[in-house]
Amino acid sequence: MPRPPPPGIILVTAVLLFLTFIMWISLQDRTEDRLSAAPAPLPKWMQKGQGKQPEVPTIVPEVQTGHAIMSHLGNETLKEELGRAAWKLFHTTMARFPDKPTQDESDALKSYIHLFARLYPCGECATHFQGILEQFPPQTSSRSAAAVWACHVHNEVNKSKNKDIFDCSQIGDFYDCGCADDEKEAMSKAGEDSHEVAKTGKIGIEREGPTRGG
Ligand SMILES: Cc1cc2nc3c(=O)[nH]c(=O)nc-3n(C[C@H](O)[C@H](O)[C@H](O)COP(=O)(O)OP(=O)(O)OC[C@H]3O[C@@H](n4cnc5c(N)ncnc54)[C@H](O)[C@@H]3O)c2cc1C
Repeated sequence: MPRPPPPGIILVTAVLLFLTFIMWISLQDRTEDRLSAAPAPLPKWMQKGQGKQPEVPTIVPEVQTGHAIMSHLGNETLKEELGRAAWKLFHTTMARFPDKPTQDESDALKSYIHLFARLYPCGECATHFQGILEQFPPQTSSRSAAAVWACHVHNEVNKSKNKDIFDCSQIGDFYDCGCADDEKEAMSKAGEDSHEVAKTGKIGIEREGPTRGG
């Protein structure tokens, strides 16, 4: 009858199998991260010969920065609930924005922020926020720039309401970008750099350049 292998060999084999399993799991995670970071597919009309471009008006600067559209929102409870939901959407948008956006993506976010302000369902909040945007124009050159900028403008609203100031160095950890670890690290780093913003009170204010198509 063959002799059973020594216990040492069994242990080493078990450890090797375990390590191989761990490596396999971590490779799976990375592949999923890479896939989830893949850009969204092009809309049909952009794919050669398919569909037709939806009819949308050309957005001129006045459309983005005109007067607040909604009326005064008297209901304080609704105003608070709306605010919390809107901030969640706002910060999550920044956290998931591409880290290296194209000019088109960067312009799209800038327009979105101005329209978000103009169409905000609380009229008096919208006018107030438009004033903040004038003072601190949207920064959309990267995910981390946008996230730190959004944290800063939210703090401006917090100040006006005598609320606590949020520590923007935590912004990368607070709103999950659902992206790969190295991208998360870049966000955390951007948050740490925001201490400089807090100290100097400056957020590297960029004046708005002309938007395309207007
Ligand atoms: C664009 C906009 C303009 C507004 N303007 C007005 C206004 O003029 N007058 C008015 O009465 N209300 C305004 N609101 C609503 C107001 O900001 C609050 O949402 C509301 O008062 C509820 O406050 P809250 O204390 O529950 O926390 P919120 O300020 O709603 O914050 C929600 C959560 O976000 C986190 N947070 C807090 N600060 C930051 C930050 N700087 N960065 C990232 N995360 C943060 C905290 O976890 C907090 O609990 C505005 C809301 C928005 C979205």
